[in-house]
Amino acid sequence: MATTQSVTRYLSPSQVDLDKIASLCKRRGFIFQSSEIYGGLNSVWDYGPLGVELKNNVKRAWWRAMVQERDDVVGLDAAILMHPQVWHASGHVAGFADPLIDCKVCKQRFRADHLWAAFVNGVKDKDGAPVLVTGEGSTPEEAAAEMAPRAKKLLKASLTEIKPVLVKDLADRDRVPCPACGAVGSLTEPRMFNLMFKTFLGPVEDESAVIYMRPETAQGIFANFDNVLTSSRMRLPFGIAQTGKAFRNEITTGHLTFRSREFEQMELEYFVRPEEGERWLQYWLEQRRGWYLKLGLRPDSLRLRQHEKEELAHYAKDCYDVEFTFPWGWAELEGIANRGDFDLTQHARSSGKKLAYFDPSTGSGEKGEHIVPYVIEPSGGVDRATLAFLIDAYDEEPPPAGTEEARVVLRLHPALAPVKVAVLPLSRKEPLVNMARDIARELRAPSAGSGWAVAYDDAQSIGRRYRRQDEQGTPYCVTVDFQSLEDKAVTIRERDTMSQVRVPVAELAAALRERLGL
Ligand code: ATP
Repeated sequence: MATTQSVTRYLSPSQVDLDKIASLCKRRGFIFQSSEIYGGLNSVWDYGPLGVELKNNVKRAWWRAMVQERDDVVGLDAAILMHPQVWHASGHVAGFADPLIDCKVCKQRFRADHLWAAFVNGVKDKDGAPVLVTGEGSTPEEAAAEMAPRAKKLLKASLTEIKPVLVKDLADRDRVPCPACGAVGSLTEPRMFNLMFKTFLGPVEDESAVIYMRPETAQGIFANFDNVLTSSRMRLPFGIAQTGKAFRNEITTGHLTFRSREFEQMELEYFVRPEEGERWLQYWLEQRRGWYLKLGLRPDSLRLRQHEKEELAHYAKDCYDVEFTFPWGWAELEGIANRGDFDLTQHARSSGKKLAYFDPSTGSGEKGEHIVPYVIEPSGGVDRATLAFLIDAYDEEPPPAGTEEARVVLRLHPALAPVKVAVLPLSRKEPLVNMARDIARELRAPSAGSGWAVAYDDAQSIGRRYRRQDEQGTPYCVTVDFQSLEDKAVTIRERDTMSQVRVPVAELAAALRERLGL
């Protein structure tokens, strides 16, 4: 849509109220809590009629960019359940764990690396101990933002500065109050807790039948490295891409779908010559950033953050996070790492199979040699990307003169919008309805727009129907009025500018194609 560039935006993502997103998601059918009729299942989500379209559009856009528009990447759809040895070899059984702290009084659990405490400047409690405030967040900024209101209340004054420190770094843990119940000295030492869900394969429920729900899709790719190589004859550098469900028994949850226990990933493992790792890492950083921008995220909403040395996994050579400015602060959308040859080497060792690439062009003489490629991994979350697109698109336009209701608009990129076009007859009178239904049917035909989702709506006033479509991000409405019966023309109304233009029905599909740019 050429016009979106010039559209005034009223809200930036960090100004968006997450509760409003949650209520819009429920009201319009984007996202529901799982098993809601039974009180809900914590941090598990269902996608409603509009949500499934949006999420599928995100996955489709990723697949197109990462697989179909390239000749060096092939796809894969590996099973969720895998041989348990996979997770021993990958290090997940031993190491995929979070440090947890329990409160001995209220029995709540917290991630030690998320639990921050701050001494409030100079304030002492009745026993003369410095007053502490605790908060959660994965960064000091996040934690400080969460603590500030409580600290201000304690001080009954404005705060100069809050300096959060990690609980696990605090020498004197006995002074840290539990963030849930406030009991002091009730927190335990951190203990490691594995995040993988376990289940049983086959009829016998004993230790030998334990298997895991995959916590990431990547290992399915490494386990199939040799199958893909021999069946597709790819040459270095090449990649294997996959989207699919992953499961993590997360302790700290919340922020809608941001950290869910069941979620979907979009992962690429891109195999390169070891000496070219850093170059390809830089290449993929640019590609991935460009992908989010192309689909409409504003450049100010995104940043690339390089991991500090101590943050890196022991095998990782280098790693960046693509971060989005969520309403609660900057947080990870996607990780992009140079994982070296760790994964292939581990699986080769554990399985006894040779996992290497035969390069006929190198080695001594004419013989060629086997090399274990390095892998560059852009690993993104479908649900997090979907949430970021929703938040970035959300806007509230001040009410037009003489009215009170702000106009809520989802300024979604046309490629992501769940519904591309809504056809709206001005009245429910017979000839208009028939004409509008015919138009909607024609727009759904592959010849019009190769599979556009087209809505038809004749309920309520036209103003309300426009509002409804704006709120769900439909880029264009087509209005069929009484004159349309005479002049065989209809009005196209644009979501972002609300501008209207009249076009002959015979030219409608072409006019929409041009505007949508799909
Ligand atoms: P975090 O630090 O936020 O827990 P992570 O670094 O453990 O994330 P990775 O293991 O790198 O995440 O997973 C790659 C991507 O998968 C993340 O960037 C994110 O988009 C997505 N992801 C991971 N865990 C979750 C989750 N619990 N819910 C939703 N998406 C997730």
